[in-house]
Amino acid sequence: MSQSKKPSESSEVIPISGLLETLGFSNPNVQSAVRQIIETAGYTNPRKTNIAVDKAKLVQIYIKANFRLVCSEECDDAAGKKRMKSGLRVRTDKCEFCNGSDQNRLVAKMAKSLSDRGLSEILIVGGSTQSANTLNRLLKSCKINLKIIEGTKRTNLKMAKLLCRNVDLVVIWGATQLDHTVSQVFNIAAEPGTKVPVARPGLKALVDAVNIHLRSN
Ligand SMILES: [Zn+2]
Repeated sequence: MSQSKKPSESSEVIPISGLLETLGFSNPNVQSAVRQIIETAGYTNPRKTNIAVDKAKLVQIYIKANFRLVCSEECDDAAGKKRMKSGLRVRTDKCEFCNGSDQNRLVAKMAKSLSDRGLSEILIVGGSTQSANTLNRLLKSCKINLKIIEGTKRTNLKMAKLLCRNVDLVVIWGATQLDHTVSQVFNIAAEPGTKVPVARPGLKALVDAVNIHLRSN
């Protein structure tokens, strides 16, 4: 690309350091790495401190299209399948996975702890529709195979045993939309050592219970 030699189309300029900051690159080491990347791509050169606003927009598009912007190892792992792109560390508020949400980061951390231990088949019984949607959305790209059973849907023991077969973790999410008969049947069906009871609603309660299970197994 030859943009760097052309006089800027717009007279308005911003500091390159400011642009990097806006993109979420606050760490000085990452800033200089990204500076190198945009120099190599031809958007600027080592002599410049400012960049035209128009060109800054192009840099933003270029970075987002070619790199996975994540805040931590957990989020990088959970962002998963976009392996074609290499990862760059950004501030949490610019993270493509968690978007600065503590809850999302907790889920990412849980997913990493599970896959680090080779646990990938997770069955969740109960929970709200909202938490099911959130988990499915967050975990769609990571190595976890998540299956969520509606807590109000009657299941017989035979079916429950089938669903629990080869499952690494059976989370029984009490205090949510979970009928007593459903929790009972899965309590019997789950293999010993795979059962994770959760006593409270909310994703934080789920993550805490899974962590306690992992620590004690
Ligand atoms: Zn993140």
